[in-house]
Amino acid sequence: MGKDKAKLKMAIYWGAACGGCCVSVLDIHETLFTVIEHADLVFWPIALDTKYSDVEEMPDQSIDITLFNGAVRNSENEHMARVLRQKSRLLIAYGSCAHMGGIPGLANFSNKEAIFRRVYEESESTVNPDKIRPLEEVMVAEGTLHLPHFYNDVMTLDQVVDVDYYLPGCPPQSERLVEVFLAVVNGTELPPKGSVVGASSLVQCDECKRKKSEKKDIKRFYRPWEVVDDGETCLNEQGILCLGPATRGGCGVRCVVGNAPCRGCYGPLDDISDFGGKMMSVIASMLEGKEEAEIEEAIETVVDPAGTFYRYSLPGSKLRRKQL
Ligand code: SF4
Ligand code: SF4
Repeated sequence: MGKDKAKLKMAIYWGAACGGCCVSVLDIHETLFTVIEHADLVFWPIALDTKYSDVEEMPDQSIDITLFNGAVRNSENEHMARVLRQKSRLLIAYGSCAHMGGIPGLANFSNKEAIFRRVYEESESTVNPDKIRPLEEVMVAEGTLHLPHFYNDVMTLDQVVDVDYYLPGCPPQSERLVEVFLAVVNGTELPPKGSVVGASSLVQCDECKRKKSEKKDIKRFYRPWEVVDDGETCLNEQGILCLGPATRGGCGVRCVVGNAPCRGCYGPLDDISDFGGKMMSVIASMLEGKEEAEIEEAIETVVDPAGTFYRYSLPGSKLRRKQL
């Protein structure tokens, strides 16, 4: 009993998420027993049947650590972000979606009306001649049914509530989660509020073992399947666009080790104010052509440049969304 009393209380919640972040918690394998030894999981919708009302009734600050994964896309996500902020001592934005908006944040290249039209009227698998769309409130015999309000914009967690730390990645590396968790358990002095934890203060290129030179003669970019990677040379120098120069390290350069380019899920270092802007300036410096027309021609070989440079970070970027 005394041992239980010393246990931390932990919550894990998902907003607009794919479920990968929750799976990354399970990916700690048998270390989960260490976590359970030190912490009681009081709320985790993917695994426990705790109701929202149970969380709302918990005393303020009674949850020691909450991992919030997923972006904020609707009123339900926002409500739970606010409730969990109130109930938690430490609120951690866990994963790229909570940190920067992530993949769901790419919807900020569109808007609510265009998304609903596509999904409920135009998609190839939709048959909806009456153009019926979901209603937020419906009366049925048993009472009133409610659906969350779908926002026009996807938001990062810190655009809605105060966040203590950011644990980046899509999903974060499970080992980094264990390190951060044990630091909290052991009472290790935590970094200043607002820090990115479980990651490095170097960019991916500093941790990457591929051969690099000062080569600045790129004429165009290729999709990975269009060229044969030699397996040794920096991907950018081979014309395969890799976002390592703008991306915070800490994942073990996993994608590049697997011969795939880095896509930027760990986000930028603290001194980079806009991930996409930084990456575009890196690219401009690598190109052979220096005239505007030559640069434009080379950039045109990047498929979906906006989606590439802001794949994980659009809502958290300087742009935040496309103006429509
Ligand atoms: S960060 Fe990646 S793994 Fe986590 S919820 Fe978002 S898309 Fe899924
Ligand atoms: S750009 Fe990519 S492949 Fe090249 S050094 Fe950086 S991380 Fe490695």
